[in-house]
Amino acid sequence: MSTENKIEMIRGGQFIVKETNPSEVFTPEDFSDEQKMMRDSVEEFVDKEIVPHKERFEKKDYALTEEVMRKAGEMGFLGIAVPEEYDGLGMGFVSTMLVCDYISGATGSIATAFGAHTGIGTMPITLYGTEEQKKKYVPKLATGEWFGAYCLTEPGAGSDANSGKTKAELTADGKHYKINGQKMWISNAGFCNVFVVFARLEDDKNITGFIVENDPSNGISMGEEEHKLGIHSSSTRQVFFNDCLVPVENMLAGRGEGFKIAMNALNVGRIKLAAACLDAQRRVITLATNYANEREQFKTPIAKFGAIRKKLAEMATNAYVGESASYRAAKDIENRIHLRQEEGATFAEAELKGVEEFAIECSILKVAVSEDMQNCSDEGIQIYGGMGFSADAPMEAAWRDARISRIYEGTNEINRMLAVGMLVKKAMKGHVNLLEPAMAVGNELTSIPSFDTPDFSEPLSEEMDMIKKLKKVFLMVAGSAVQKFGTELEQNQQLLLAASDILIEIYMAESAILRTQKNIARTSVEEQKEQIAMSQLYLYSAVKIIQNRAEEGISSFAEGDEQRMMLMGLKRFTKYINLPNIIELRNVVADKVTGENKYPFTKA
Ligand SMILES: Cc1cc2nc3c(=O)[nH]c(=O)nc-3n(C[C@H](O)[C@H](O)[C@H](O)COP(=O)(O)OP(=O)(O)OC[C@H]3O[C@@H](n4cnc5c(N)ncnc54)[C@H](O)[C@@H]3O)c2cc1C
Repeated sequence: MSTENKIEMIRGGQFIVKETNPSEVFTPEDFSDEQKMMRDSVEEFVDKEIVPHKERFEKKDYALTEEVMRKAGEMGFLGIAVPEEYDGLGMGFVSTMLVCDYISGATGSIATAFGAHTGIGTMPITLYGTEEQKKKYVPKLATGEWFGAYCLTEPGAGSDANSGKTKAELTADGKHYKINGQKMWISNAGFCNVFVVFARLEDDKNITGFIVENDPSNGISMGEEEHKLGIHSSSTRQVFFNDCLVPVENMLAGRGEGFKIAMNALNVGRIKLAAACLDAQRRVITLATNYANEREQFKTPIAKFGAIRKKLAEMATNAYVGESASYRAAKDIENRIHLRQEEGATFAEAELKGVEEFAIECSILKVAVSEDMQNCSDEGIQIYGGMGFSADAPMEAAWRDARISRIYEGTNEINRMLAVGMLVKKAMKGHVNLLEPAMAVGNELTSIPSFDTPDFSEPLSEEMDMIKKLKKVFLMVAGSAVQKFGTELEQNQQLLLAASDILIEIYMAESAILRTQKNIARTSVEEQKEQIAMSQLYLYSAVKIIQNRAEEGISSFAEGDEQRMMLMGLKRFTKYINLPNIIELRNVVADKVTGENKYPFTKA
C-alpha cells in the first residue's frame, strides 16, 4: 500500500463519511506484552502508593501528591512520552495513553498532577523547544527531578485563551524579557520548578510562550491554594509575575507562536484526559459492584434488583465504549506519527501533526468520556445509597473529582463546538469530503426508499447498518445547516451543539461495535456475548439521543415541506428492523459484572 493510500485511509474526522473495517481498528485486546507489563506495573504502583492513602488525598495533603509524583518519576512513568535522548522511555502514543489511563484511576489529584506535568507542563518544551532548551529542561522533567506547570489562564482570559493581558517586554540590553501579569488556576504551581508561561509582546495579535524557572527571588509569587470542590490534593494557585526576568533564549518557538503551542498542547491534553477518565470508571464500577453484591435489603443483595442491575450494566457499557473509542483514536494518531516519521519528519513535527490531524476525535473523546465518568460516579453514589453521600465511602470523592474534567482542557461546550467547527473547516479545505456524501443523502431523501429486507444474519450487522444510517443523519443536519448559515453557523451555537452530539454518539457507538466485531472474529460470538450486548445497548441510547438532537436541529432551520421531508428521513435513518430486547441486554451485562464482582471487560 502506498503512503498516499495510507494517509487517505486514516484522516481525522473521516470516520463520519467512511466505512471502517473492524480489522483496521486497534482495541484494548491488541495491547502488546510490553504494554500489558507497563499497564500492570502502573496498576500495582497505584494500588500500593495511592489507594491506601485515599483519605490523605481528600485532606489536602499536597506533599503526598508531590511524593507520589516523584516516585512515579523514579518508575519512569513521567518520561514515557519523552524521547530516550532526553532520558525518557520514548514509547509510542498508545503506551502513553495506557499509562495516563491507569495512573489516573484512584484519585483525581494524581490524575491532574500527572496530566499537568507530563502533558501541558513538559510536552510544549519537548515539542517546540530548541535543542538547548530540551537538553536543559526535559531530562529533569522526564525523571521527576523537576516538575512542570502551564500558565495560560488568567482572571479575564479562560476559554478565550488568546486574550490574556500578561505582558512580556524586551529589556534595554536585549538579554531578557520582563514578564508582568497574573495567571489563575495553575495546576502543580505549589511544587513546580518550571512554568510554561504565555504572555504578549507589545500589541501582537497572538501570545508568545516562555520557559520560566520558578524562582521566588525573580518576581514570582503565588496565591494561597484554591479551595476546590474536588481534586483536593492537586495544587492549584494563582501565579503573579512582577518584573520577572526571563533570558531571551527561553522564548518557546517564535514570537507570536504561543497560541498555536497552547492549542496543540490542548489537543494532546484532551485525548489524554479521556484516558484519565477510564480507569476511574473501572474502579468505581468494581467498587459499586462489590457493594451491591454485599449490601442486602429486603433480605436480598441489592445487586439482584433490576434497578441496580440497570445502573451497573449502563456504567459498564459506557466504560467499554470509552475504552474502545479512546484506544482506536490513540492508535490512529500513533500510525499517523509513524507515517510522518517515515516521511522524514522529526519526532516533534510528527507528533504535532499526528495529533492535530485527529483533533476532532480528541475533542469528541474529551467530552464523551468526561461525561461518562461523571455519570458513572453519580450512579455509584446512588448504588451506595446513604453511604454514597458519606465522605467515609469512596463514591463521594470520585464524584467530586470527576467534575473538573468537564471544565479544564477546554470546557465541554467549547470542545463540542470545536469538533463540528473543525470538521466543517476540514471539509472546506478538501481534507474530508463531506459535500458529495451530503448531496447523496439529499437525493436519497427525495427518492423512494428500498423495501428490500436486508440480511442481518451476521452478528452486529444490523448495528453496523444503523451506524451507516446515523452518519446520514449527521450529513443531513450538518450539511443543511452549513448550506443555510454558511460562515454564520458559528453564531448558531445551539445548533452546533446538537450536531456535535450526533457526531459524538456516532464515533463512540461505532468504535464499540468495531471493537466487538474484531474480537468476535478472533474469539467467538459466545465469548463476546456481553460485549455484543454492550455494543447494542450503547447504540440504542445513541439512536435516542441522535433522534432528539436531530429533531431539535431540523426544526430550528427547516419549515413546511422541507421540515416534513427531513423528519421523514430522520425516521427512516433511525429505524430498527429488529429492535433488540434492551432489558434483556442489560441483564446479560449485569450478570457478567455482578458474577465476576468487578468491571471484567479489559483484562484477559
Ligand atoms: C482545578 C483547575 C485546574 C486548572 N489548571 C489549569 C492549568 O494548569 N493551567 C491553565 O492555564 N489553566 C488551568 N485551568 C483553567 C481552565 O482551563 C479554565 O478554567 C477553563 O478553560 C475555563 O475557563 P474559565 O474558567 O475562565 O471559564 P469561562 O471561559 O469564563 O467559561 C464560563 C462558561 O462559559 C462558557 N463559554 C465561554 N466561552 C464561550 C463561548 N465562546 N461560547 C459558548 N460558551 C462559552 C464555558 O463553556 C463555561 O461554561 C484550571 C482550572 C481549574 C478549575
